[in-house]
Amino acid sequence: MKLGFNQATCMKNSNLYNDLLLAEKYGYDFIEIRIDMLRDYLEEYSIADLKKFFSKSHLQPIGYNSIEDINFCDKNSWQVIHNDIAFACQVSQEIGGEFIVIVPTIQDGVLWNSEEVFEDSVKVLNKVADQVAPYGLKVAFEPIGSQKCCVRSLDEAYAIVEAVNKKNVGLVIDAFNLYLYDQWKDIDVLDKIPLEKIFIYHIDDADDLPIEILDHCHRLFPGNGVIDLGKISKALKDRGFAGVCSLELFNPGYWMLSPEHVFQIGAKKSRKYL
Ligand code: ZN
Repeated sequence: MKLGFNQATCMKNSNLYNDLLLAEKYGYDFIEIRIDMLRDYLEEYSIADLKKFFSKSHLQPIGYNSIEDINFCDKNSWQVIHNDIAFACQVSQEIGGEFIVIVPTIQDGVLWNSEEVFEDSVKVLNKVADQVAPYGLKVAFEPIGSQKCCVRSLDEAYAIVEAVNKKNVGLVIDAFNLYLYDQWKDIDVLDKIPLEKIFIYHIDDADDLPIEILDHCHRLFPGNGVIDLGKISKALKDRGFAGVCSLELFNPGYWMLSPEHVFQIGAKKSRKYL
């Protein structure tokens, strides 16, 4: 597998300019660009600067993160999503990238039943797939393990992707999210997903906490927690997955460290699983 860096990892202690330099310095192969951090970068620099950086670097963009709360949007909230996607599409024409990550809605209370969620997700993914297709981009759908997320499991997410049945729609396999869902009780769930539908693997470990307390702020460097990343990574490799394994953490403790330290440790810890 190739080594990726997801910008959430240093989102509060760094910026895109800095992340690019550090990712290149520590030998990452790909970066997942956050759309908000890209907008910040463009306040000071241009797309031409970005293009120039990638033209002379080993590091390349793999995708754009993340379009959130995509389900059951009203007209105004959909317009914001549509604009973000259009922006990412436009930038991708200059610098490249393979996909946009799309995340299901976190609901406060149970507002929709599973049929409604399924139906709406299929509709939304179809819509986004059509929007990005002219730009040669794909849509990577990521189930989120949080209790309140409307699509939490890999089974459910894959059923949606299967129903969409478009070549440019696939999945993000996030080790932490699926641990949060059911603690990876069944790693064989990966065998049900066709290889061509696995667009990226997010690597992240979990603190040893009761599942009711565990949240995204408790994501740890690979190898520092309780997720059997060795087994998960091996299962992916055995299936022939040779795509990007991208470090994605949201740990406020790491945001207090120097970004250089996080990039260095992150590369060292993640490489073991490639
Ligand atoms: Zn993820």
